[in-house]
Amino acid sequence: MTLSPATRAAQALCHVDPTTGGVSPAIDLSATFVRDGDYAARGPYIYARDGGPTVRQAEAVLADLDGAADSLVFASGMAAITTLIESLEPGAGVVAPAVMYHGGRSWLQRQAARGLIDLRPFDPSDQSTLAAAVTPATRLIWIETPVNPTWDILDIAAAARVAKASGANLAGDCTAAPPTTLQALSLGADIAFHSGTKYLGGHSDLTAGVLSTADPALGDTLRALRTLMGTVIGAFEAWLLIRGLRTLFLRWERASTTALDLARTLSQHPRVETVLYPGLETHPGHSIARAQMVGGFGGMLSLLVDTPETAARVVRQTKLWLPATSLGGVESLIEHRHIIEAGIDPRLLRLSTGIEAPEDLLTDLVQALDPPA
Ligand code: PLP
Repeated sequence: MTLSPATRAAQALCHVDPTTGGVSPAIDLSATFVRDGDYAARGPYIYARDGGPTVRQAEAVLADLDGAADSLVFASGMAAITTLIESLEPGAGVVAPAVMYHGGRSWLQRQAARGLIDLRPFDPSDQSTLAAAVTPATRLIWIETPVNPTWDILDIAAAARVAKASGANLAGDCTAAPPTTLQALSLGADIAFHSGTKYLGGHSDLTAGVLSTADPALGDTLRALRTLMGTVIGAFEAWLLIRGLRTLFLRWERASTTALDLARTLSQHPRVETVLYPGLETHPGHSIARAQMVGGFGGMLSLLVDTPETAARVVRQTKLWLPATSLGGVESLIEHRHIIEAGIDPRLLRLSTGIEAPEDLLTDLVQALDPPA
């Protein structure tokens, strides 16, 4: 029987503990694993910094979901990004969007300032600038789609053609578009990156990062570096990640449906000038998003409201939408993003739609947008 990805994820690859019959994967917290009398490794595990059994189980589920030759799980998204950048030769060219997750951008800028990489930005709102940023030294093209917090869409297959022509690897930050909806590797990316802290974990109770590779040799290189750098995830967090992955499809479906309804309704609100959501037909990236995000557009949207004061007031007055950073959890979050990230329009509110009752979420936003006279 051919099982759909939703089924395989729900059952963590049909995992039943061979010893106990437990239907939930066991957690193995061992930091070290005994060897034989002659000191040969008994099995695949030696020391937890290499990744133990629970980490491997999480990686198996993720490799399956991403259609990857190999998946590696890290202690956070940033741990994955820094390990990937460390794998480049000194002076390697890196092309990355001028607007992207600010932590990743800061790391790239820091490495460039130290002379370790040659960083070339491109404008993610105009994908034609990507090819123009490539040089003969380019070894890595980093893209993010949808782009946080404007939710611009980049065409992964087109970016992959540029990468192939220049001999560079293409890495896609798919944090806001997990493998329930977007298969970055099958669209031509060499590496799919996810902050597992977000949709994959889904409960705002762990930090994790994932690199899924199409080439097993690249996976081996990254795994060796992860051991050296100590950027691996802990076993408990890996177990939480597996638990989150089992409900990923359901959570994604719910968040996508609610966010699309909110986007449509809030587009009509007099205090909302623009709703940025790739699921809206009016969004500039809608047709590409529809083609490459086959399982829904997700829970992330931004509102450009009439004034910065309205934005500040809405964040203070929502009760269900919690004013916290991050995204992709079961609880809805709201952010007045320019306070966190320089250069963002002060009228922009970033919303991460959770799985609460859609009518409650709408009512809460409307009461905050329309305060009593
Ligand atoms: N990429 C994106 C798009 C993110 O939103 C984040 C975190 O907010 C990261 C990467 C970094 O992930 P982490 O916070 O797990 O280190």
